Amino acid sequence: MPIYPVFGIDMQVAFNFSRGAIVELFRNIRDSPDIYEVINDDSTRMSFPNVVERIENLLDNIFPADTGLTVSYQGTEFNLESLFDLVGWIFSVTGEVPADATAANYYYPLVILYCKWCWTLCVHRWRVPQMVQITWFTQGTTKRVCLGSNLDRPGQPRKNAARRRRFDMLLTDRLAEEDERNWSYLHFGGQLIGHCAETFPALFIKSLGDVVTLENARGIAVKPIRALINGLPNKLHVPNTFAMRRDLLANPCPNCQRVLSRLEKDINLANFRVANL
Ligand SMILES: [Zn+2]
Repeated sequence: MPIYPVFGIDMQVAFNFSRGAIVELFRNIRDSPDIYEVINDDSTRMSFPNVVERIENLLDNIFPADTGLTVSYQGTEFNLESLFDLVGWIFSVTGEVPADATAANYYYPLVILYCKWCWTLCVHRWRVPQMVQITWFTQGTTKRVCLGSNLDRPGQPRKNAARRRRFDMLLTDRLAEEDERNWSYLHFGGQLIGHCAETFPALFIKSLGDVVTLENARGIAVKPIRALINGLPNKLHVPNTFAMRRDLLANPCPNCQRVLSRLEKDINLANFRVANL
């Protein structure tokens, strides 16, 4: 089965978009939300102009100087800070997911497109996120995706502040506990909860409450640089060997296993593993 288009564009064509073409597309989505099938929710659509403006301002910096931008996801407000999370929000609210979408014909190509656009958008390529994540699930009868990025280059005060604010959102939503604020399940001194690419997908999904059932929710984390360099000749194709999947993709880390398991009792973490993509 061929790969589905996204944003009304052939996925392979979109993959090769220039920086200017990506930004121009975001402006077009802002101006014509119906054509681009932006989620039909007033507060979500009202966030679009601010998101596009902030993306244009962050291309050289990735992070704003101060705090993030308040953005609505289907009526719940979130503080989005990095360029990559703002782009992930656009991917999460734009375009209807095809009824017969699969990992091979839609979800994996979509997250690779997100990787590529993060790469293309940032001036300094070493700032490309080390990890991104896509989760797909059903809201009522509607298929949805949520995408996000990790906070790369931890240790710098600005990024640590962003991590703490993400943690506070997880805490408010009972996806994290207060005694985990400075605790890593990875190893002593390891990444802390809030750092990972799964953070905003988990927060967005949690905000929807009982209208989602996560029994069949699936997801995959991708290492953008490795996926774009080491993947198959056509980067949109799902890696077809376990060795390649282990190189390009990642299982939920021990921190994320805790966060994801708190989303809903029926969530199946096996659906987020590399082997089961
Ligand atoms: Zn993680």
